[in-house]
Amino acid sequence: MNRREIPAGASAPLAAHPVTWREDGSPTSLRFNDVYRSAGSDGLGGLAQARQVFLGGCGLLDSSQSAAAWHGAPSWSVLELGFGLGLNFLATWHAWQAASGRPDRLFYSAVEAFPPEPEDLLRSAAPFPQLHPLAQQLAAQWQALLPGVYRLEFEHGRIALTLAVGDVRDALQQLQGRHDSIYLDGFNPAHNPQMWELPVLKAVARLARRGSRAATWCVAASVRKNLTQCGFAVARVAGLPPKRHALQARYDPPWRIRRRVRSDQVVCRQPARCAVIGAGVAGASVAWSLAQRGWQVTVLDRAASPCAGASGVPVGLVAPHVSPDDCALSQLTRAGVRATLSRARALLANGRDFAVTGVLQPHAAGQCRLPPAWQPLRSARATRATTLPAAHETTRARARDAGMRLDASHPALWHEEAGWLRPAALVAALLAAPGITWRPRTLVAAIQPAAGGWQLLDASRRCLLEAELVVVAAGLDTPDLLPDAARLPLNALRGQVSCGPMPASAGAWRWPGFPVMGQGHLVANVPGPDGPWWQTGATFQRGRVDTTCQPEDDAANRMQLAALLPDAAAALEPQWSSAQRRSWAGVRATLPNHLPALGAWTPGQPVTLRSVCEPDALPPPARLPLQLCTGFGARGLTLAVLCGEILAASLHDEPLPVASTLLPQLRASRYGSPRASCS
Ligand code: SAM
Repeated sequence: MNRREIPAGASAPLAAHPVTWREDGSPTSLRFNDVYRSAGSDGLGGLAQARQVFLGGCGLLDSSQSAAAWHGAPSWSVLELGFGLGLNFLATWHAWQAASGRPDRLFYSAVEAFPPEPEDLLRSAAPFPQLHPLAQQLAAQWQALLPGVYRLEFEHGRIALTLAVGDVRDALQQLQGRHDSIYLDGFNPAHNPQMWELPVLKAVARLARRGSRAATWCVAASVRKNLTQCGFAVARVAGLPPKRHALQARYDPPWRIRRRVRSDQVVCRQPARCAVIGAGVAGASVAWSLAQRGWQVTVLDRAASPCAGASGVPVGLVAPHVSPDDCALSQLTRAGVRATLSRARALLANGRDFAVTGVLQPHAAGQCRLPPAWQPLRSARATRATTLPAAHETTRARARDAGMRLDASHPALWHEEAGWLRPAALVAALLAAPGITWRPRTLVAAIQPAAGGWQLLDASRRCLLEAELVVVAAGLDTPDLLPDAARLPLNALRGQVSCGPMPASAGAWRWPGFPVMGQGHLVANVPGPDGPWWQTGATFQRGRVDTTCQPEDDAANRMQLAALLPDAAAALEPQWSSAQRRSWAGVRATLPNHLPALGAWTPGQPVTLRSVCEPDALPPPARLPLQLCTGFGARGLTLAVLCGEILAASLHDEPLPVASTLLPQLRASRYGSPRASCS
């Protein structure tokens, strides 16, 4: 018996780990004094409940009388309260695999305050061999789940799991969309009332559509009363023995269902032709996400090859931003790191184009505080995602590897799920996707409205291309292409890096096997043109747009490295005069709050909120507004893949891969429009 196993019936002090395994194999929560699932008639517990109570309760299993509710639907959305060990998710995924006429895409949104460890997910699925391959895929992506919203993808993106990590009361506010099936799977309301209270079920109703079906094992009178009050028609049905009853419900309120919509929100259900201007990571990412949804995308750039702008840096870091108040940028970068590394794992060669090595981040004293909300999650999971020096041996060990000594005045963070990536390799892989055409050496001088879409014009005002949708991802050139460009406050931020072949010998010094980032960065031993290379920099020069490399900027990088990592700087000293040493300079485009500008650009039009009645669809616009995807500053590699997905998902009215509360801070329409008003 290990320290997380207790004999059946015994009590134990509250563990830091959410799951404790009883001797009989049942997973339990000491925090809530309850089991994760009913023992069920299969004797092994769980899968029978998942299938009979939840899938069956929502009509997702074929029966002799009728096809499953999702039969023939193009997509299907499930919402679960209490993701727990993911058994209901795995059972739904398994049923989807076997279903005839299954929906092309399955969106599964789930809320969980206390994510278990990946080993618990595997152990939970162990009694069910048919679920093993699925559980292994889930466990492989189950890391770095600090509070926030994360997208995990399976089946080549056809199954999208949106996990909102946090208390149900906050987490539900971060989800959006209309869900067809709802699984209510909190612990017993006597011990876990938060999951069943009226405001929570009202939030669930907000995420339902008329006709959505809900299911749960819980038939408590208070739960039935709350559901009824929220507009669900509730029925008690036969339960899974030993339970006598289970509950099924249908959302069918006697009132009209209203939905609040922003005037700059457009929904496009029919993919057509799309032009993306700019072939850096932003343009390639948005092109890929739209092509996946059926758009015929042409990516144009004035340059002869992709990555001619800031994405041309030889190697970039993919790492999260951390702030004590867990600001929007921090939340976005956590989701962004996950999205970028997951795309890299799918499309690139590990060790050649990218590597998830972890990243060490030294800090100035006093700047190295983790958000207080993470403290209750001091499990191995939080530790693996991002760790503090004083508390964690891992960070101290990595700092020793990098030749740094940590103490109270020299703290550091260790980001486990982080690493380096070659932007050019990522962009090439994205542009090679089916549905994308790459048009180099094409200077777009203007964009003008045309019937049902837009025309791109060259400098002689000849039409280069017509498309129903245009996305401008041209970095600093973006404002030149926009009507009313003056209102998009993009700033130039020049950066120069220095790089070269690794020295043949570094004496006793051993290079860290991971990047270090702080005031500047060092990446060592990345595959270079002919052997392993190093890279350091970058400079941050506001307002400068020249891209000719300057010796004084190399000198600044050299000094910066000496301050960041003195031992590494000493070992690299001879390399600065090597004939093979190189420099690269580019200009990033930044916005005042360091967040990108995404989505519709509708300058001068006030953004209003209006209330529409369901099932009235939003009227399709006569012309889709110009879309922007720019302003990533120095974080393009961490954010662009995610933002491409956000732009495409919002256009298609899909559940978003980030907290919906972040969206207003990312919208391009936050610039150039009067403040939002209600109507
Ligand atoms: N559906 C899960 C499965 O298939 O394995 C089992 C869910 S278990 C019965 C209930 C879950 O609700 C637990 O994982 C628990 O951590 C979560 N939970 C309890 N209170 C919560 C709260 N206030 N906010 C979010 N999640 C909560």
